[in-house]
Amino acid sequence: MKTSYHRPSRVIVNLAHIRHNILTVASRLRPEQKKYAVVKANAYGHGAVAVAQAIQDVVDGYCVSNIDEGLELREAGLTLPILILGVIPVDFVTLAIKEKLTVTVASLAWLEALLMQLPDLIGLKVHLKVDSGMGRIGVRTPEETNRLFLRLQKAGAQLEGIFTHFATADEVDETQFNVQVSRFQEIIEQLPERPDLVHLSNSAASVWHPDLMTDLVRLGDVIYGLNPSGRVLELPYEIKPALSLVSELIHVKQLPAGATVGYGATYKTDETSYIGTIPLGYADGVIRKMQDMDVLVDGVRCQIVGRVSMDQITVLLPKLYPLGTPVTLIGQDGCENITADDWADKQKTINYEVVCLLSDRLPRIYLP
Ligand SMILES: *Cc1c(COP(=O)(O)O)cnc(C)c1O
Repeated sequence: MKTSYHRPSRVIVNLAHIRHNILTVASRLRPEQKKYAVVKANAYGHGAVAVAQAIQDVVDGYCVSNIDEGLELREAGLTLPILILGVIPVDFVTLAIKEKLTVTVASLAWLEALLMQLPDLIGLKVHLKVDSGMGRIGVRTPEETNRLFLRLQKAGAQLEGIFTHFATADEVDETQFNVQVSRFQEIIEQLPERPDLVHLSNSAASVWHPDLMTDLVRLGDVIYGLNPSGRVLELPYEIKPALSLVSELIHVKQLPAGATVGYGATYKTDETSYIGTIPLGYADGVIRKMQDMDVLVDGVRCQIVGRVSMDQITVLLPKLYPLGTPVTLIGQDGCENITADDWADKQKTINYEVVCLLSDRLPRIYLP
């Protein structure tokens, strides 16, 4: 989507907060543990290249979800290791080798398909993926893992790492978490050789299980200042949300009592009212479920009334405000604050989805 620069709606990203968050999480981990920043999905909507550049000196590498996201970072001149967490089509492994992208190998079927095309894997750096209970990608048994290990070794690939991913590291009940740890350990113990980077931890495990034996942590949600458990578990230290969503009043009108607002005429004024219009809508990621949510108009809570349109929302104002009055949809203004978790509650989802859905139409503005 075309980014709309000539419009006051924008995402403000505080890069110093992201650095602070990484250093805060890292301070509770062992110094020799590698810190990889997960910058998939445009760094959870924050802007992958700008974020990756800003944290180069405080992380050891990046994780992305597909090859294009890795290429974007390479094209921007970033040189740290990049691990692609998802399975890439075998046709693009040559490209991964050329661009020094580390690929995840998650099944024997995939490796066999690759070896048919490319029998010699010299120059390819891989991490093996173990499915210890997530049920998504990865091998599940020690036998399968060892077969993959030996095939990769024989083909000349550099087997740098092996990893697994938790389904419930952000939950109070640790049963599933512990099952996954022991399944993974069992597989590691039976490997012919231990790769350099044996890793398990995502944000939640890094925050609430900092003592876990892992050579590398994959830090996503938490570096953006978001709590990976939402409101379930409390963070043991302060992290700072990096993202704000702001705009301005582009139109203000007085409506008589009984006037309707928006598609479907779902809102009717019960008295003479001031209605402000803000130029963003569901095409920006302010989805229709946001109807009735508050925004901050010059620091004052005002409710979104009427349906959210594709490009505009309407709010009930307590008084006449001038055009250009600042509006905060996510973030702090004065004493008031609206968080991604407030949005997640309203949308019955998680903060991850809220920030990822902020579309490319919104420019990202970076504070150093
Ligand atoms: C997305 C992802 C992460 C990061 O998860 P957070 O909860 O955001 O820290 C880590 N590992 C894998 C395999 C992932 O897909």
